[in-house]
Amino acid sequence: MIETKNNWADRLSPGVNAIAPSGIRKFFDIAAQMEDVISLGVGEPDFVTPWSIRESCVYGLEQGYTSYTANRGLPELRQEICNHFHDCYQTDYDAATDVLVTVGVSEALDIAMRAILAPGDEVLIPEPCYVSYQACTILAGGVPVAVPAKIENEFRITPAELEEHVTERTKVLLIGYPNNPTGAIMTRKDLQAIADFAEKHDLIVISDEIYGDLTYGGEEHVCFASLPRMQERTILLNGFSKAYAMTGWRIGYALGNPTIIAAMTKIHQYTMLCAPITAQIAAVEALRHGEKYMKKMVSEYDRRRRLIYDGFIKMGLECFEPKGAFYIFPNISSTGYTSDEFAEELLKAEHVALVPGSAFGACGEGHVRCSYATSIDKISEALNRIDNFLKHHKK
Ligand code: PLP
Repeated sequence: MIETKNNWADRLSPGVNAIAPSGIRKFFDIAAQMEDVISLGVGEPDFVTPWSIRESCVYGLEQGYTSYTANRGLPELRQEICNHFHDCYQTDYDAATDVLVTVGVSEALDIAMRAILAPGDEVLIPEPCYVSYQACTILAGGVPVAVPAKIENEFRITPAELEEHVTERTKVLLIGYPNNPTGAIMTRKDLQAIADFAEKHDLIVISDEIYGDLTYGGEEHVCFASLPRMQERTILLNGFSKAYAMTGWRIGYALGNPTIIAAMTKIHQYTMLCAPITAQIAAVEALRHGEKYMKKMVSEYDRRRRLIYDGFIKMGLECFEPKGAFYIFPNISSTGYTSDEFAEELLKAEHVALVPGSAFGACGEGHVRCSYATSIDKISEALNRIDNFLKHHKK
């Protein structure tokens, strides 16, 4: 018998070895061992999915809808998605060819990368950004190229900053506004400048607009694909997790030109077959009748946003006032702690869980991400505890 050395780690794919474990989960594991923890850590609505959406799923089950669907998703859902974007942003997508229903935006992002990237292709990623952007790029064989966004510019990215990082190998620009973790948005003018940049360098743009319905203070969300000539070169990602409080349903979608959507469908039909039919039925109901519930949740997030922003400003921390999503990203560098140390010490001393900014890219260092997708009472108590921590802890 041949003797094998069972060093299993050596047998894993280089891609898996190249990605770091999510910086978000680590603190949840510590928090799970503790009592009386207030979590501002998770990026998940604290609302239950509105009843009419849940009811549509129950009714679908009663009627026996338990099968696979078409790979691309239920035709009526694809049509509702196209109608929705046409009504809101005047886009012109064809439900037969330009839409793919996926298992969350997570799957859409993964297969978009795998459909487009050849080994070594570079992806420009403004940072701080959602933790999956880098990982999905690497797992698809691409090279993530971070483009740091600055708090002085309200975490918006400019073409000049992108120009500094573009090379012959750049194939994709991946943007996510409203932004996780900063709460930044991009104005129409900002995005038009980015669109010109994408055109100049002939880039494919992946625009993750999962927080597109969550903007505050009258700020407009601009759909990147709705800008002149951008529909063709944009893969627009969106889903139901955040706006409709449907994280556990695992339902999202991609909109784009028929060639890229067909390529993504090719991967999806072998790996996922289709998104769950129960979630697709519920998603149809969300788009047809869910807007009023969504608007109520958004106005509640807005109340919480103002409370938490005022709280951090009163504590004397530099803080960008978030304009979208449900995160705030205060600068804690004045404490002398790194963001990792701050998160750990705060958790131990005051039992408040949040996420170190370094989890969202190197330029997130010096900040922490707090989610305000939790109740006003919990936010108030967390602010008291953080204030207490700041008074008694300095490095
Ligand atoms: N994109 C962003 C920016 C997110 O914050 C998240 C989840 O936190 C996702 C995508 C994943 O969404 P889904 O639940 O649709 O997979």
